[in-house]
Amino acid sequence: MSKGKINVSVENIFPLIKKFLYSDQEIFLRELISNATDATLKLKHLSNIGESKVNVENPLIEVKVDKKGKKLHIIDQGIGMTAEEVKKYINEVAFSGAEEFLEKYKDTAKDSGIIGHFGLGFYSAFMVADKVEIISKSYKDESAIHWSCDGSPEFTLKKHNKKEVGTEIILNISKDSKDYLEESKIRDLLKKYNRFMPIPIKFGTKEITRNEGEGDDKKEIKEQVDDIINITEPAWSKQPSELKDEDYKQFYRDLYPMNFEEPLFNIHLNVDYPFNLTGILYFPKLSNDINIQKDKIQLYQNQVFVTDNVEGIVPEFLTLLRGVIDSPDIPLNVSRSYLQVDSAVKKITNYITRKVGDKLNSLFKKDRKMFEEKWNDIKVIIEYGMLSEEKFFEKAEKFSLYPTTDSKYFTYDELIEEIKDNQTDKDGKTVILYSTNVKEQDSFIRIAEDKGYKVLLLDSPIISHLLQKLETTKEKISFARVDSDTIENLIKKEEENVSKLNEKEKETLNSYLEEIIPKEKFTIQLEASDSNTPPFMITLPEFMRRMKDMQATGVGGMFGNMPEIYNLVVNTNSDLITNILNTKTKNKRERLINQSLDLAKLSQNLLKGQDLTNFIKRSFDLIK
Ligand code: ADP
Repeated sequence: MSKGKINVSVENIFPLIKKFLYSDQEIFLRELISNATDATLKLKHLSNIGESKVNVENPLIEVKVDKKGKKLHIIDQGIGMTAEEVKKYINEVAFSGAEEFLEKYKDTAKDSGIIGHFGLGFYSAFMVADKVEIISKSYKDESAIHWSCDGSPEFTLKKHNKKEVGTEIILNISKDSKDYLEESKIRDLLKKYNRFMPIPIKFGTKEITRNEGEGDDKKEIKEQVDDIINITEPAWSKQPSELKDEDYKQFYRDLYPMNFEEPLFNIHLNVDYPFNLTGILYFPKLSNDINIQKDKIQLYQNQVFVTDNVEGIVPEFLTLLRGVIDSPDIPLNVSRSYLQVDSAVKKITNYITRKVGDKLNSLFKKDRKMFEEKWNDIKVIIEYGMLSEEKFFEKAEKFSLYPTTDSKYFTYDELIEEIKDNQTDKDGKTVILYSTNVKEQDSFIRIAEDKGYKVLLLDSPIISHLLQKLETTKEKISFARVDSDTIENLIKKEEENVSKLNEKEKETLNSYLEEIIPKEKFTIQLEASDSNTPPFMITLPEFMRRMKDMQATGVGGMFGNMPEIYNLVVNTNSDLITNILNTKTKNKRERLINQSLDLAKLSQNLLKGQDLTNFIKRSFDLIK
């Protein structure tokens, strides 16, 4: 047996390590299992190249909880360590790492935000254990060793009679960490961090039922088998060519067992230059409640779970996607839980954006019908991307869709081609009409459709921002909601109707209207339209309404107190207007105007409260 003192200047570094990593205590298990996995993979490799005679057929990593003995065991069948190696790797290397770490950061120790990786993996065990033991037998022909350390810089190292090659780490769990002696806690941790690691991890046994025999001899046999926690070859670790659609769906279910929706489609990421990154991203069917999003994209490093906070790596507009990203090239701090966003990460982010754009484009080209069917589910993500990432905007121009109220889908270029001859205003701009709500704007959609105009259905919450962007990037176009004042320009231009009223009559009509219509609410506009246009119609100034919409979704603030002013468009060619003009009794005339105004309000959903009650009462009186 040998005794020794670990050579560090700090008397006792473990309390410090504990304090440092306290918030992420649970990562100790991930670190130890990563070490066990590395050791197992190393031995496999040595056997493959003929450097080791030890050949374990199907190596396992086993995790055992000994609640009575207050111990947690992590046992591997890996490469093992000789006495020399323990001295070198455990005593010196890791400690020097720890020392360096403390040396460098002792001043900033308390607010440890980003601290880089210093090979503290093994020592994270001291966050939860009073004493840590290593029993290890190397694949080299040497006696096994037993190392033990109680958290002071002193350790003991003696021989052990372990026969099988591999390493067993024993944590004597401390009083204030006794949670880690609960099987359910350990199972949860294994499921969280190690679910897709490459070496099978056994945690206890489970009963399975097996059918044996045929016909009358058929019987069910129950047996106990190893309970293996992980899937050792997750889909993202394979080549896209090895995978079928069903494999991608199965992996989605493995990843989010509590989610019963199927994904819409997936994007397999796979690069090895200039950085290493694999992964699969899924476009999910978004529920209305995107705030309660628990199934997030997960970040892995070599199949070890790191975090599901991918902010900074995945471009913001794609954070609603699901799936996995695995990259050893993303720099992380010692607990591997915070990102350091640097130029390497920026490259990764750009790659993801580009790849998603390309994939959407190829899906669109390959199966446009499918793409159209899914548009409603993916549009928010795409539109958000077009707004927030210039590169994505350029790509998305080819596949972003503009559906009409009668369910046809146009790309931007197709749309312009379709409407440019028919929907140009007097300034020569092509006017793109859209509705945000077919139910509420039905009467306006009818009017526009009657005139042969195309009306788009654009109902995303951020649509007004996108329209604004399109208007500034594209030439000679403008968007107008179907109930906005812009449509009047189109109608006027098209018809150039001759008014049936002469100037004198118009003046009289105006004075009648002004007596009743509140000036602070409505701007009266006399227009000579055709008989399909209602006698009274309320339209909203497009500019003002859009500013308000944009404000509601976060941008702007200077339009806070815009007055609510509407246009009241009066069709001077309608019979009702002639009627109003010809009515000599003031009372009756006022009744007609009021009723018409209310009807116009009603069709814009502006008639409310007492006004609505009065309107209904008046209407009943009229028909009784
Ligand atoms: P890192 O894993 O970052 O190198 P660690 O402190 O976790 O740092 O481990 C230090 C070294 O100890 C490892 O590089 C490895 O050589 C050795 N080691 C740790 N655990 C095992 C194990 N289970 N089997 C064999 N060697 C191990």
